[in-house]
Amino acid sequence: MVTDINYMQAAIQQAEKAKQMNEVPIGAVIVNYDDIIATGYNVRETSQTGLSHAELIAIEEANRHIGSWRLEDCTLYVTLEPCPMCAGAIVQSRIKRVVYGAPDPKAGCAGTLMNLLQDERFNHQADVTSGMLQEECSALLTGFFRELRERKKK
Ligand SMILES: [Zn+2]
Repeated sequence: MVTDINYMQAAIQQAEKAKQMNEVPIGAVIVNYDDIIATGYNVRETSQTGLSHAELIAIEEANRHIGSWRLEDCTLYVTLEPCPMCAGAIVQSRIKRVVYGAPDPKAGCAGTLMNLLQDERFNHQADVTSGMLQEECSALLTGFFRELRERKKK
């Protein structure tokens, strides 16, 4: 059976792609009826746009795949808790469920700093599962920043 863990592993594979490009390793996949229909990873440095977050790239791909801006039957898996921009895009896309790995104490808007995904004042709320493969997702990030600091020292 394909489970949340398998899909989060797929998101981690996306994050690994970001890492290979010296990008902060954050990855996402969107699942629709047991199929991964879209993937994305952070490419902010490569693209030099602040919009190039893993979630937004995956959402755009899912929109193209389904041919609709509505992603009502989709689950988004992302290695790091969504920021305010991505949480906004998730609400606007009507994504049904969000599963994330590591909490983000600096930008997390799916429960840590605030919870934009479950605010009853908006016209859409998503189900949220947090901490899925949290240790692996966090280790990717801490390892990346440690290497970055060491490289800078040299
Ligand atoms: Zn974001």
